[in-house]
Amino acid sequence: MTLTTRLLNKAARIILIGAPGVGKGTQTERLLSRFPELASISSGDLLRENVRKKSPLGLKAETAMQAGNLVPDSLILELISSEFKSKGWLSTSPDSSISSNASFILDGFPRTAAQASSLETLVPINFVVQLVTPPAIILSRIASRWIHEPSGRVYNIDFNAPQVPGKDDVTGEPLTQREDDSIETWKQRLHKFEETSRALLEHYERKGCLWRVEGNTSDEISPQLFAEIERRFC
Ligand code: AMP
Repeated sequence: MTLTTRLLNKAARIILIGAPGVGKGTQTERLLSRFPELASISSGDLLRENVRKKSPLGLKAETAMQAGNLVPDSLILELISSEFKSKGWLSTSPDSSISSNASFILDGFPRTAAQASSLETLVPINFVVQLVTPPAIILSRIASRWIHEPSGRVYNIDFNAPQVPGKDDVTGEPLTQREDDSIETWKQRLHKFEETSRALLEHYERKGCLWRVEGNTSDEISPQLFAEIERRFC
């Protein structure tokens, strides 16, 4: 990946929507390097931090998270708006409307159309990226993914194979496949994503800020995404 950076001419308030395994994390990292004014906020990370700290919000969210359910919208909105405020991203103008000059990528939020509507009252999102990789490709990528449990190093036998098959490059210890990497689990996850993302995508389609990008790998997607952000914001 190129290390060239670009400055934004106007605030970019971005959301990436994509199935699990599509590489949202990878694209976010690359965007943060390419556009240094961007910051990212992950609702999952914020929630886990609150759970760890045993904050009142964390205690309320914990049960839902442990059961693999979404936490209630009111909690997540409280969390996001207090994070925006603490970062100084929300300013109140004389007519008391809220505005933001910050540029950011939100990760994991909004997850539902209702959350998207609430977010609009806080800061209107102006670019929504739908990352698309065919499910069959995602599944084959998962099937070839091996990890070194103690360090969290991830290998992929198709494009990032360990030097010695089945062994970690650094320690030489055996690699394993995570139990939750089973294809059946992933098929269910992808199916659930299709169902739950539909209303969210429709919401942003109606608002006219949805843009779709397709690729079989992150490397195919990144250049298209960079170019579109530069076209819109630089
Ligand atoms: P993640 O790391 O994004 O997968 O989030 C971990 C967990 O946090 C999810 O399984 C949910 O329980 C909760 N969570 C994260 N973001 C949201 C959200 N936008 N709305 C509701 N619950 C969320």
